Amino acid sequence: MPVRTPVYLDHLAATPVDPAVLDAMVDALRDHFGNASSGTHAFGWSANALADRAREEVAALVGCEPREVIFTSGATESNNLALRGTADLWPQPGRIVSTTLEHSSVDRTLDDLATRGWQVVRVPCGPDGLVRADAIGAALTADTRLVTINAAQNELGTLQPWPQIAAVCRERDVVCHVDAAQAAGKVPLDFRADGIGLLSVSSHKMYGPKGAGALIVRSGDPRVDLRPQLTGGGQERGLRAGTLNVPAMVGMGVACRLARTRRDEDAVRLRRLGARLYARLADRIGDLVLNGDAGARLPGCLNLLVPGVPAGALMRAVPTLAFSAGAACTSGEGKPPAALLALGLDPERARSSIRLSLGRGTTEAEVDYAVDRLADAIVAIRTEKGTA
Ligand code: PMP
Repeated sequence: MPVRTPVYLDHLAATPVDPAVLDAMVDALRDHFGNASSGTHAFGWSANALADRAREEVAALVGCEPREVIFTSGATESNNLALRGTADLWPQPGRIVSTTLEHSSVDRTLDDLATRGWQVVRVPCGPDGLVRADAIGAALTADTRLVTINAAQNELGTLQPWPQIAAVCRERDVVCHVDAAQAAGKVPLDFRADGIGLLSVSSHKMYGPKGAGALIVRSGDPRVDLRPQLTGGGQERGLRAGTLNVPAMVGMGVACRLARTRRDEDAVRLRRLGARLYARLADRIGDLVLNGDAGARLPGCLNLLVPGVPAGALMRAVPTLAFSAGAACTSGEGKPPAALLALGLDPERARSSIRLSLGRGTTEAEVDYAVDRLADAIVAIRTEKGTA
């Protein structure tokens, strides 16, 4: 069967909205427009019932209580609420321990807290793109107020050992915030069992709408407390004011349900397709390098170094493939992907790396098409440069 182009291989940037998500959102927008906080009539009650159900779906996916789910506009806001909300409660700035691999929504927020006197320590990763739990433990001091780490790195696709890191934090009585924007719904993750204090989730990385996310806030733990960053009505237990965006919550809830029921099956398929892509491309391009650990990574997500071939030139050469060089959020900045530099790659090699992320709808034919187009383009670019 011919492949329909362009082929989408950038699921770490955004995923297509699942048709079931769309249907539920349209239904909510059309038939349940009431304000979920209107407790005096049926329009409010029906919107509130949908919000409750969405909250239960998010909770079921990540292993928390529904009341621990604080809906936000996405993981960027969740990360800001976790970091600023924690910092703002301390009368004196202390230390925050993070890593060199964080998303800009964590990293820029940490920069801002540093200007307010917070001591920010960024623990480096190994050449495999993984941060060791003992390295985090070594960075903890008596005045450490928070540890913030990602569960899955958005440029490399590597999975951090967050349960081990959270365990180290627990031993030392420090709250652990995990940015699971890329991991939730794709790999097993259990808020309670993994000992996480604060957890950021995003809807549009798991086939839900953009502009929806959640911060899971552990209840019953006196160390976990936040100062709200949006004040107003008392929505979301007073932690995030604003009329509930029920259609977005509904969409996210359905996305969470689908992720919960399909996660393992999707993961097996995506792992197989990712392995096929890598093996076939490596067969054609002998010096291809996989950036980051081969095992501890999101299913179907690859970051590949093609020595001597700038990612920009490769993208221009294959316009029928939609892929990227790194994070969409910082791609306009013209810098090499930060995670690749953190990995120890020099800027030239970092600029010669591409990110390919497959998703639920990716087919074997699309993978084979991508391999052919990429291999042809790489050989053509190298021939032109005289390096083939
Ligand atoms: N953290 C990570 C690791 C991400 O990949 C992203 C999205 N690129 C975010 C946070 C921000 O999520 P959102 O787009 O929902 O604000």
